[in-house]
Amino acid sequence: MSGNLYEVISAVGEMIIGNRQKLTDLDAAIGDGDHGINMARGFEAVKAKLQGMEMESDIGKVLKIVGMTLISSVGGAAGPLYGTAFLRAAAPSQGKTELDTQTIGLMLEAAIAGIKERGKATTGEKTMLDALVPAYEAFQDGANTGKTVTACLELAYEAAQQGVEFTKTIIATKGRASYLGERSRGHQDPGATSSYIMLKALVEYLRR
Ligand code: ADP
Ligand code: MG
Ligand code: MG
Repeated sequence: MSGNLYEVISAVGEMIIGNRQKLTDLDAAIGDGDHGINMARGFEAVKAKLQGMEMESDIGKVLKIVGMTLISSVGGAAGPLYGTAFLRAAAPSQGKTELDTQTIGLMLEAAIAGIKERGKATTGEKTMLDALVPAYEAFQDGANTGKTVTACLELAYEAAQQGVEFTKTIIATKGRASYLGERSRGHQDPGATSSYIMLKALVEYLRR
């Protein structure tokens, strides 16, 4: 994947900002109704940060800035979790100006490990991990069979979509939604949805 990194990040940010209300409505049902607000604020801050700095071609360096900006600008659970994910993804992409499937696989793996550690969470708890982990697995399956970056990300995106559907069937055991216990069932997780939306933006950018 070459593409312009700034364009990719901007595409992801715009899609999150465009889904502010949807993400907030989902969070209103099982949380405190701020996920869209939190995520949009974070990506607005990222946009301002990247616009205000000199063009940097090192993907790892840019992702590090994205991660730090999300952590410092977003309150709530998801900001620090996504911030950590971007910081961790920055390590395998350090010094790179293009990404191949192997590197992206390592980035996804590192991002997920960061979320698991920081959130003390795993799959099946109705969180963003229920979209991201299947997405990573589908990506790796594609990479292992020699598919292109775009094809692998399309598989990841489809798996994330199924992961979001899966979150409707389970009860939350992490985050605010866990306070609802059984009443959280039937609702889709806002964080899994924002992860899915980010992958959707990535795929749409690559398909354009
Ligand atoms: P808050 O719950 O603090 O208001 P947000 O509404 O922005 O934060 O984010 C909620 C989302 O964060 C949830 O939908 C879930 O996907 C994710 N989340 C919450 N707690 C955890 C955790 N411990 N591990 C992983 N993801 C989590
Ligand atoms: Mg919330
Ligand atoms: Mg909150």
